[in-house]
Amino acid sequence: MKLAATILICIVISLDGASIESQLFAEKFLVRFNYMTDSRTNNQQPSALKKSPSSMQTAIKDYQRDNGLVVTGDLSRETLELMSLPRCGNTRSDNIYDAIASKRRRRRRYAFSSTKWNSDFLTYRVSPFTNDLSKSQVLSAIEKGFKIWSDHSMLKFKRVEYKANLELSFYKGSHQDGYAFDGKGGVLAHAFYPRTGLIHFDDDELWSTSNNDILLSQVAAHEIGHGLGLKHSSDKNAIMYASYKYKGANFNIETDDRKGIEELYGCNPTKKCYKEGKPKKGDSCFSPKGLVRTSKNETKFMKDIDIGDLVQSENGFSKVIGWLHRDEEKLEKFFVLKNELGLNLKVTGEHLIAIEKDGQIQYQRAYETTKRDFLINIDEFGRKSRQKITEIDVIEEKGIYAPLTDDGTIVVDSNLASCYAVVNSHQIGHLVFTPLRWMSNWTSAFPLEHSAELITKYLGPVAEFLGMFS
Ligand SMILES: [Zn+2]
Ligand SMILES: [Zn+2]
Repeated sequence: MKLAATILICIVISLDGASIESQLFAEKFLVRFNYMTDSRTNNQQPSALKKSPSSMQTAIKDYQRDNGLVVTGDLSRETLELMSLPRCGNTRSDNIYDAIASKRRRRRRYAFSSTKWNSDFLTYRVSPFTNDLSKSQVLSAIEKGFKIWSDHSMLKFKRVEYKANLELSFYKGSHQDGYAFDGKGGVLAHAFYPRTGLIHFDDDELWSTSNNDILLSQVAAHEIGHGLGLKHSSDKNAIMYASYKYKGANFNIETDDRKGIEELYGCNPTKKCYKEGKPKKGDSCFSPKGLVRTSKNETKFMKDIDIGDLVQSENGFSKVIGWLHRDEEKLEKFFVLKNELGLNLKVTGEHLIAIEKDGQIQYQRAYETTKRDFLINIDEFGRKSRQKITEIDVIEEKGIYAPLTDDGTIVVDSNLASCYAVVNSHQIGHLVFTPLRWMSNWTSAFPLEHSAELITKYLGPVAEFLGMFS
């Protein structure tokens, strides 16, 4: 197929215009990828001459626009060259892949289908495998394909051996989904949009971990993008560009891909977010329904805490001296960390929570925790124990609360957490907030709620700077 296309291109060049052969090739291509409809009956040969020239020209223009080419409506050399490259089987507006999105005109450069997954935690399974590579090579290529998306969004992926959200399979020719593969070259793979979860690779390709043949990790990254809801990009550098060009083993997603995945699933707070132009900071709080013990041996919801309350902290009880954040209306995503005792700690991803490491209490961000970590449980008598995390989930809830206590810690739902989040380490956080804690001892008339916000705003960056050296 590649050879045939090369010959066609030579004819075009020699004739200084599109030959009949290249027109037939282009017409077949444009019909196949949904740029125009095919009105022929089964017995007729394809013929560009029988098509209305304007519909062909419109289709070429659409193809050029979708693929970042100069829009002329002519079968230019670069247009034919691009058509001859191996590519993804997903079409421009495939009614079966995605019925609703096809009715809408694309406005953004990146585009996504009308659906996305409801959860940020998705499972995947690979079966059947290809024989081109070892099982572990296939798995690490596919893992890389997932990682570039999870690195830049709130998504987390886990490989399983049972029925998964995303099912990745290698097939040859017809494979019972109505989209038969075409042998070596041409279409490399295709994927269904959420929430179907099917990602298929053409096993007539020679899959590779290098430039020798088709780089599996790169194609996997592209198809996983579809599986998550992204459509093709017109940016030639984007992973979601429809045609395949080897990007090198260290490829990563491009700006256009990142904008798309962030819009669908929210950006990873540790990375630069394109939407806001800066890392997402500060929304680092507890849920309103978190339970806190007070020195009066009562239990209060987080939302009902008052300044001056003595609440349970790392070592006994500590005075609430202000609010770092408090917004009853704000809708926010919370990580729900469930421990062995069945108790849930609900915090935003940036929040620092206490975990046990090598017999020590350490603080790390909630989104960094895994099921291998142990939360620090403190019971009503102040006894500490470590409790393994059994489940991690993400939910959305209204209301965010971040009280600041005298010793910088607070026990919520019997789990120890830091009061801080805008800084990189709990220790540095405590150091930076020291002036505020002193002030609260000097005068009770000081407008603490307000000053805490100011200190968060102005000392936050200082703390981050200090955090670089911690
Ligand atoms: Zn594609
Ligand atoms: Zn398929």
